[in-house]
Amino acid sequence: MAHHKVFIIGSGPAGYTAAIYAARADLKPYVAAGLQPGGQLTTTTDVENFPGYPEGVMGPQMMEDLRQQAERFGTTVAYTMVTKVDLSSRPFKIWEDDEEHTADAIIVSTGASAKYLGVKGEQEYLGRGVSACATCDGFFFRDQDICVIGGGDSAMEEANFLTKFARKVYVIHRRDELRASKIMQERALKNPKIEFIWNTAVEEVTGDENGVNGVKLLNRVTGERSHLAVTGYFAAIGHKPNTDLFKGQLDMNDVGYLNVKDRSTYTNVEGVFAAGDVADSVYRQAITAAGMGCQAAIDAERWLEGQEG
Ligand code: NAP
Repeated sequence: MAHHKVFIIGSGPAGYTAAIYAARADLKPYVAAGLQPGGQLTTTTDVENFPGYPEGVMGPQMMEDLRQQAERFGTTVAYTMVTKVDLSSRPFKIWEDDEEHTADAIIVSTGASAKYLGVKGEQEYLGRGVSACATCDGFFFRDQDICVIGGGDSAMEEANFLTKFARKVYVIHRRDELRASKIMQERALKNPKIEFIWNTAVEEVTGDENGVNGVKLLNRVTGERSHLAVTGYFAAIGHKPNTDLFKGQLDMNDVGYLNVKDRSTYTNVEGVFAAGDVADSVYRQAITAAGMGCQAAIDAERWLEGQEG
């Protein structure tokens, strides 16, 4: 059974930044990288708003750089998944399947995952036309007609990106007004390959042995029902914090984001800190996640020092 001073759960910008700071404080952090090492940024293309990259940087490259930077100072990155935690006594217990670890402090940076509508056919055709990651799967839809669900920045970004491959991209939005930022809206509205379907809900994803072949739609204003033929379906309706592991142990809000105290990264359990999207339903940016990761490492370091005294 391995013991760690600082165990970091998750490997997005928050987790790796926490690791860089904790490693430089000689805390020899251990990072369990999770199901999607590098986190959500590994499913994106150009990151144009992270300071320090005037020409932008590819998301996967940035995460690779962060990992290397963390390892350079003595972080251990394990490509494992934490399956259970026991935060009821210290040292804390953490399991990666059957393998048990203990830790003096934990930094939770498990991020958030894409949400799906939950309609009939959606899960059935997951990976067979249904996706929540245009960067990962766009390539498969060359010269096809596909749809993107949602009206936020993610939907606009995915739709624009998908026009590189698809013949036509329908953006299906439940209202007649977009939530996305002005600049992202304009890009999508100007794109000749994108067609918006307003005030419309998806009721079902239909398919056959080849995968998705369409969506059943309901116009929420007229009540009219229709079927749209598409072979790809991209959900871009937001994210859900990855906090199931901590239910009943860490305080969270009504939609599952971890609560932290004031402007710190302290959770309700002393010695457990939270950083990044898992504790931030407001900003959810790589730069704010990285900033919180830094805070969490400093909070953990100071808290550990206090325990020794
Ligand atoms: P979001 O802003 O929460 O937008 C979600 C969209 O999905 C909304 O248009 C919403 O409709 C729709 N939606 C949610 N649940 C739905 C349901 N059950 N049925 C139908 N439609 C549903 O999420 P996001 O677009 O993922 O963006 C999240 C954050 O990341 C934002 O702060 C955004 O600015 C940021 N972001 C930035 C970039 C960038 O700058 N490059 C890229 C992606 C994301 P309503 O509008 O009707 O609520």
